[in-house]
Amino acid sequence: MDWSLFGCARKGYVTYAPDEPDLRDRLTAPTAGGTAWRCLRCGTFVTHGQPGKGQHGKVQHGKVQRGSGPAVAAPLLRRGKELRDEFILRVFAVERFIRFVIFAAAASSAASGPQELAGPAPR
Ligand SMILES: [Zn+2]
Repeated sequence: MDWSLFGCARKGYVTYAPDEPDLRDRLTAPTAGGTAWRCLRCGTFVTHGQPGKGQHGKVQHGKVQRGSGPAVAAPLLRRGKELRDEFILRVFAVERFIRFVIFAAAASSAASGPQELAGPAPR
């Protein structure tokens, strides 16, 4: 499973136009539908992800985060195994929360449960 694609499916593509022309050429590809920009997370070329252009009022196919500037200012993204680790940690956090709710309910019902189970009070 490609966890980078999973991340882009959840959060959207991330494109970035570096100011350096040689790096910019490596992240673009000319297509019939316009210039395609490479996603920084999954490496997919997306035609609707031109960085640095506001596309208000235009229909978009999915979410795209765009950016531009010097290459050192490009966003650092979690990819592949890091995304898998993040997903697993989140699953564990949800599992721990569910366990907390179950034990809190059990403790609460045990504290305020029927008192006759304790038997008659000693004399
Ligand atoms: Zn992507």
